Amino acid sequence: MSLIVQKFGGTSVGSLERMKHVAERVMKTKEQGHNVVVVVSAMAGETNRLVSLAKQIQENCEGREYDVLLATGEQISVALVAMWLKKLGQPACSFLGHQMRILTDSAFSKARILSVEGHDSIKATLRRGEVVVAAGFQGVDVHGNITTLGRGGSDTTAVALAAALKADACEIYTDVDGVYTADPNIVATARKIDRIAYEEMLELASLGSKVLQIRSVELAANHHVPIWVKNTFTDNPGTLVCHEDHEMERVVVRGVSCSRDDVLFSVRRCNNQTATVVKLFGALAKANIVVDVIVQNVALGGHLDLSFTVPKDDLSHAREVVKSVLPAIGAEGITVNNDMAKISIVGVGMRSHAGVAAKMFAVLEAAGISIHLISTSEIKISCVIDRKHAELATRVLHDAFELGQGGLSKARVKTSEPRPKR
Ligand code: ADP
Ligand code: ASP
Ligand code: MG
Repeated sequence: MSLIVQKFGGTSVGSLERMKHVAERVMKTKEQGHNVVVVVSAMAGETNRLVSLAKQIQENCEGREYDVLLATGEQISVALVAMWLKKLGQPACSFLGHQMRILTDSAFSKARILSVEGHDSIKATLRRGEVVVAAGFQGVDVHGNITTLGRGGSDTTAVALAAALKADACEIYTDVDGVYTADPNIVATARKIDRIAYEEMLELASLGSKVLQIRSVELAANHHVPIWVKNTFTDNPGTLVCHEDHEMERVVVRGVSCSRDDVLFSVRRCNNQTATVVKLFGALAKANIVVDVIVQNVALGGHLDLSFTVPKDDLSHAREVVKSVLPAIGAEGITVNNDMAKISIVGVGMRSHAGVAAKMFAVLEAAGISIHLISTSEIKISCVIDRKHAELATRVLHDAFELGQGGLSKARVKTSEPRPKR
């Protein structure tokens, strides 16, 4: 019998009525002859509520007890969804992370899944004809501590279970029809993408398109798990996230992402030695802080100025770490800019194509948007800009690369001549 993993996000289980709808959807899949593992998130707003409770006690509260608290959101959802299934006549059993033995490291609030050891009890439950209702977002470390997988982590739970159980499909149900060329809640002309490469999805997710958690895409690519992103509230076909094929290279830019989740650090007048970057970024790495765009400048007088971005959530931790190394790198001081955004364009088609960056910069300039930092990879270009321009930048780039109409093809990036009529 085939096995389908279906994950439902916060809005999909945002009320008892919606949970009933989820239960009915799951039962339809079961009636079609599939075994189903349902992964659920906390009800919409619940995780934020729990975070704000903890922060009222202590601002930097991440740690063991924080994860114990945050994991309760998903515990509520699994119990209620399993109750609905049973009430509607479908036997079901709820499972928490530790009951499925979702083993993680001990990095509280951003733990990584190491393995899923509880196959046997999950499979035994499925064999009895029951639906498994699994709590997303949570695991357990080797010491038995409850851990959580970072915001949006239920997506990763779903992919990890699909990989471990060798499921036939992994479906992520959310409140939009699939993955779009830009956030459909910001750009009215955003178009749903039918198929997207893991690599592109990974970049979009890490640059602000939170429709899938980054780690879920990483895990899916490593374990060859195709992901369908679908709408809980419609029967539309959704987006398939899968390995790249030739057709995907046809367009230069697949999507635009905007992140407001980073802060910009500038460290002035450091010693102009390689040891400076080794010490500074070594200390940040040791503190488990992910650094993104990095720019170094040699200023007049031969000193080194360094700018880099880190996640907003790590702001105070990063500030402490950077301050602690200032004497060792001879720096004069730091400034932190909390008012920036990172706008990015992504597409496997830009890999071997010139002119994409130049076009992006020209479009931003024409819209009166200043660029503070730039970073590129093979398949993405990111610019750090003022946060007040985030939505404008998203829209002008979406228009310039014609994403609403299927994307600018390679041949037309430089000239940008009008699109031929089809
Ligand atoms: P869930 O609670 O179901 O996990 P999320 O809020 O995590 O849902 O993800 C869905 C949201 O992601 C959408 O409502 C949309 O606003 C946002 N989003 C951002 N970028 C994109 C994109 N490129 N395509 C689709 N949705 C996107
Ligand atoms: N409930 C968690 C969050 O809000 C996990 C998730 O929704 O995937 O981040
Ligand atoms: Mg999500």
